[in-house]
Amino acid sequence: MDWQSDTRYLKGVGPQKAKLLKDLGIATIYDLLTYFPRDYVDRSRLKLIAQITDQEITSIQAIVISQQEFFTRKRRRLLKIVLSDGTGKVNLVCFNQYYLRDYLTKGKTVVVNGKFSRLANRRNVFDLTNFTYEVLSGEHDDLIHTGRIVPIYSICRDLNMRFLRALIRKTLDNFEKEIREFLPRSILAKENLIDYRLALEQVHFPSDLAQLVQARRRLVFNEFFLLEIALASKYYRQRHQNKGIPYEIRKNLLAPFKELLPFTFTPEQKKVIREIFQDMQSPRPMNRLLQGDVGSGKTIVALCAMLLAVENGYQAVLMAPTEILAQQHYFYLQHFLDQLAVNQVILTGGTNKKDHKTKEAIASGQAQIIVGTQALLEEDVNFKNLGLIIIDEQHKFGVSQRARLRTKGANVDVIVMTATPIPRSLALTLYGDLDVSTIQQLPPGRLPVKTSAPSEDDAYNFIRRQVGQGRQAYIVYPLVEESPNFTFKAAGQMAEHLQREIFPEFTVGLLHGRLKIEEKAQVMKDFVEGKIDILVATTVIEVGIDVANASVILIEHAERFGLSTLHQLRGRVGRNREQAFCLMTAIGKTPEAKKRSQAMLDTNDGFKIAEYDLQIRGPGELGGLRQHGLPDFKIADIVKDFSLLQSARKIAFDLIKDDLYLRQEENKLLRQMMTESFGKKLDLISVG
Ligand code: ADP
Ligand code: MG
Repeated sequence: MDWQSDTRYLKGVGPQKAKLLKDLGIATIYDLLTYFPRDYVDRSRLKLIAQITDQEITSIQAIVISQQEFFTRKRRRLLKIVLSDGTGKVNLVCFNQYYLRDYLTKGKTVVVNGKFSRLANRRNVFDLTNFTYEVLSGEHDDLIHTGRIVPIYSICRDLNMRFLRALIRKTLDNFEKEIREFLPRSILAKENLIDYRLALEQVHFPSDLAQLVQARRRLVFNEFFLLEIALASKYYRQRHQNKGIPYEIRKNLLAPFKELLPFTFTPEQKKVIREIFQDMQSPRPMNRLLQGDVGSGKTIVALCAMLLAVENGYQAVLMAPTEILAQQHYFYLQHFLDQLAVNQVILTGGTNKKDHKTKEAIASGQAQIIVGTQALLEEDVNFKNLGLIIIDEQHKFGVSQRARLRTKGANVDVIVMTATPIPRSLALTLYGDLDVSTIQQLPPGRLPVKTSAPSEDDAYNFIRRQVGQGRQAYIVYPLVEESPNFTFKAAGQMAEHLQREIFPEFTVGLLHGRLKIEEKAQVMKDFVEGKIDILVATTVIEVGIDVANASVILIEHAERFGLSTLHQLRGRVGRNREQAFCLMTAIGKTPEAKKRSQAMLDTNDGFKIAEYDLQIRGPGELGGLRQHGLPDFKIADIVKDFSLLQSARKIAFDLIKDDLYLRQEENKLLRQMMTESFGKKLDLISVG
């Protein structure tokens, strides 16, 4: 047996227990040894009841001497279990824990931990309402369950804590020799890391808190380091590849395009265009993330890259997550492309009858720039010579979708764009194999959007004044239709109500995801042309919509939206030099909702918002590793352990730079560890 063996073969496990372990995600011995405690209780210093002071948090060992049942005034049953250790008494007050009656029976020895409240006028008698407990068996293995810092694992019914703890203890003992140090000595020394075997031992059964801290640090480093090694390999392998397209800057399109530009590029736009052009000129396929806050002007940068591809006789494709956004891109680009005589098509699937013709144009190469949605991924969409892929709002697509688009060309260049800035920590993990270009500043003259949380009436009055001055407004709701399950307002009903009762003097339009393509296009067109004053919508307008005359957005039921969505919605206004406003109603009562709206009121900076979001929601939901086809971290936390992540990344990249295939003797065990921990998943480490 080795540590990839099934736990079923461990003594005392068997098929049934093995199944329970699998439910916890433990299939192999390795999984078992890396099933880390979710918490610890310090039972290393058990106290005598007589030594405890009022309100102290500590642990005792005692015997159950009696059980008493009461009814409370509200006629709820209440169980009181009395313990004694010979120096005093403790009453365990068990609300909603009636099952303890059969478990903590008279004569059992237990260790309990909690906050002890002394009863008035009674020496050495305490109540304990909130406690953890463990029944001792009287066998010698009690030593791992008490009298020390004891690990607490997440367990399921039918698999108890003592069993799991004892199993991990035995497995550590029996497989000690299997646990081999895989990090080169030099790295251990440099980062001051303890030995792997010692770390595994100490994380489960720490001798003291200082050891536990060291153990955790080592294991966190492991997780970061292995991932970064994988990312570094991918990154350098791409670098070494040179089958890509070396574009030449010919200027037969780029030069006239520059003449058409109604503004000059900001220094940051120039910088990222330079970075992209450098990548495109090199024979190495480009893999670049272009990030920039909403309204920072990414689309025009994307157009530059597409024109370079077209200048060189290649096709370029721009994929967006929604039809509305694809259409908007199409119209935006068309303005330039018409004058440059570049042939652009749009493919959004659905019911469009022209699709067949469009696909032919794509296959023949007649279509030079192709804008579209997921429809582009369909099997019958074939390109003549696809050279450049740009994916807008890339986080709205899955890994496999991005990968599928890539297969439509050979060694194509790829740019993924996002207006949801990626916190540094995620950039170093999830996007660690991409080159990153960032547009930090907005085009000149933009005033920060003013954000406030007025009453609904005030909000309506404000909108009335703005629209009265010729501006336009968005009003956003979380749902299209009212639902019996929710009590909040929905776009459909509200659009009618607002038109009839609140804004009879203006034209109110309605936009949501369930409209037909042509209907959506018509509504957007009317809004762009100013035929609609107030656009009531769902989050379909979250990404990309660009109507400069809109000066105010009202987000109703703001508590229903995530922070990055709120920020994206706010980005729909403030797209020219005039002051714009974001109003939020029902900003929420829960602590999380409050934090979100406070963040919105505090800052306009998308990067700060992204950091807040990461803190509030945790990395998992922000497109965690699993969404990228990778195992989640078991112990590391990219927010709390950020500095360790940075050093792990640096060390991993340095190491791979010197030894791309981990062939050097001192890296042999590391290589083995990589295959064992990632296996086939290694290929998936890519977002482009
Ligand atoms: P995003 O980064 O959110 O996709 P867009 O590309 O939609 O931003 O750009 C937002 C608006 O700013 C567009 O109307 C665009 O034409 C305009 N814009 C882009 N670059 C500049 C610039 N350098 N100066 C002035 N306006 C610009
Ligand atoms: Mg955009």
